[in-house]
Amino acid sequence: MRFGYHVRVKEKLATALDEGSTAGCDTIQIFPGPPQQWGTPNVSREDIEEFRSRKEETKIDPVTIHSIYLVNLAAPDESIYRRSIGSLVSALKRADEIGAYAVVTHIGNHKGKGEVYGIERIASAVTSVFEKFKGEAMLLLETTAGSGTSIGHTFEQFGSVFSSAGFPEKLGFCLDTCHVYAAGYDVSSVEGLEKTLGDIDKNMGLERLKLLHLNDSLGGLGSRVDRHAHIGEGKIGLDGFRNIVNHPLLKELPAICEVPYESNGGKDIALLRSLENK
Ligand SMILES: [Zn+2]
Ligand SMILES: [Zn+2]
Repeated sequence: MRFGYHVRVKEKLATALDEGSTAGCDTIQIFPGPPQQWGTPNVSREDIEEFRSRKEETKIDPVTIHSIYLVNLAAPDESIYRRSIGSLVSALKRADEIGAYAVVTHIGNHKGKGEVYGIERIASAVTSVFEKFKGEAMLLLETTAGSGTSIGHTFEQFGSVFSSAGFPEKLGFCLDTCHVYAAGYDVSSVEGLEKTLGDIDKNMGLERLKLLHLNDSLGGLGSRVDRHAHIGEGKIGLDGFRNIVNHPLLKELPAICEVPYESNGGKDIALLRSLENK
């Protein structure tokens, strides 16, 4: 498995690769800009060239962009909905410019309008994104813990979005271990992981799984509490992650640890590597 962290972009894009390289990453995830602000910042040609050549040098691959937190593809509010689509289009364009393979995004909240409304809204948002973006990068929808009115905590919901959104070849998903555990899929046990992967295959197709977010969960199974923990410090635990990193259907995927790595001295990916069967 290729492991990495979510790292910061400081004044220049390439600093994210330097930070990732220092932290021992094989792969990294970055934001396209400040995650609480609309708009993808402009970047100079020079910065993009520098990023591409540093990417070759550091061999960090793949690079993933995580959309800003304001995106809500199920938003009843028309202006937020439009801005969300625009934000994903600009992040996908940026992904192509810098050689990132995908943009991962939270799907959204229906704000009380109901699941059926939310799913239809998301599917048509995805279709609009790919009517505007004709490049290479994929869009990955991220599994959620299911707090509030969020969509994406059952694989049936994903299945409905995938079957009604246009451009299926450009759409995949990201499995966040903390989120699915909190949503009620027991990825901490051997049998639970098998059952989860079976459910994924039945509803969305395992071939659509393109990225893992490896986070332990402070919230219990089915608690719908979205609180990430360092690897081995939550309810999934080291035995759970040992099964995950060695699973034949998962081990070729890139995997990002999202808990800020400085807060435990960057131990998460070293720990995950130590769990891999050699
Ligand atoms: Zn996320
Ligand atoms: Zn995540």
